Amino acid sequence: MKRAVKVRLYPNKTQQELLQKHFGACRYVYNRSLALKKYAYQKFGVNVSAHKLIKRLPILKERYEWLKEIDSQALQQSIRHLDEAFKHFFRRVKNGETPGFPKFKTKKHTKQSFQYPQRVKVEGKKLYLPKIGWIKAKGVRDDLSGKIKTVTVSYEAYKYYASILLEIEAEPIEFVREPVGIDMGVVYAITDSDGNHHKIEDYSPRYKKELIKLEKCQKALSRKQRGSKRYQKAKIKLARQHKRVSNIRYNFLHQISHIYSENQAIVEDLNIKAMTKSAKGTIENPGKNVKAKSALNRKILQNGWSLFFVLLEYKTNHNLIKVDPKYTSQTCSRCGYVDKANRITQSRFVCKSCGLTINADVNAAKNILARGIHGNNARQQPKVA
Ligand SMILES: [Zn+2]
Repeated sequence: MKRAVKVRLYPNKTQQELLQKHFGACRYVYNRSLALKKYAYQKFGVNVSAHKLIKRLPILKERYEWLKEIDSQALQQSIRHLDEAFKHFFRRVKNGETPGFPKFKTKKHTKQSFQYPQRVKVEGKKLYLPKIGWIKAKGVRDDLSGKIKTVTVSYEAYKYYASILLEIEAEPIEFVREPVGIDMGVVYAITDSDGNHHKIEDYSPRYKKELIKLEKCQKALSRKQRGSKRYQKAKIKLARQHKRVSNIRYNFLHQISHIYSENQAIVEDLNIKAMTKSAKGTIENPGKNVKAKSALNRKILQNGWSLFFVLLEYKTNHNLIKVDPKYTSQTCSRCGYVDKANRITQSRFVCKSCGLTINADVNAAKNILARGIHGNNARQQPKVA
């Protein structure tokens, strides 16, 4: 489990100068790499990998003497961040969202920061930053040492800070109930490996009505003249309706997470799943502008599930297990046979190999449970006939 701590730094004059050089150099390498990536992509249609860019760093250092003062790993890290930015960009393109091409960093408009991937130490009330030395810091403790993952140094409103990401072991707790796999549906619905279904409509009879109202509010707003008084009124009404719907969702997630707080809960890792499931054909999707709307619905749903996991993590004292979601909906939970055709409809699963007939969501939840028990990252190899 990871936790972040932000501490204030009090560098002396020399250290301040060195820190400023680090901000500048990391920004320089970031922008230079971005320019190169952009050029190579536009001119030749190739994606220059982070690995290649990192390999070029020593050449750059030979050319620019001032880069030698800078921590190499911090420079490498800024290239990796750029790579992340591109990955997010391509994901958004794929999902039909506003892509937002990675931007150049400017001294004026970007928060000044750089990151150490490792090697930061703590002793007493001081923090050791490679190439800069021991800096006085407020809020650090000796026991942080050894658990430090990355450290991001930033300069905000003329003050220096370090955001320390820590890897902490979760305190094991004894669960009074059996482990359970939990499958998250395409609408606000949750199914577990014991065969229990929780639908938001059952927890809030008002939910569907409020959704319809929400849609009416959206339509009403779209008919009003932008900037007019009626427009303003409709906008406020819509915002209130949004709040009503999101409150219902929040209460639902809260109640369900409470139900599973005494189990060793196992869920799918949403980061791996990353919006691969289509949200088509849901009650929140009436059919118009399907693409844009389903992207939006996925987003809402993802936020919902992320929140659910946060609640569950909290209530299970960080003992939530997340597993690889690959093939959970196509795999037979009895014999392990994997086939798209196993899933006859949204809700019915009939195994083409052993004949198991089961609710599709319960089947998925059982697979999730099995993966959680047989090892967190165990990928079930598809047994294809
Ligand atoms: Zn089977």
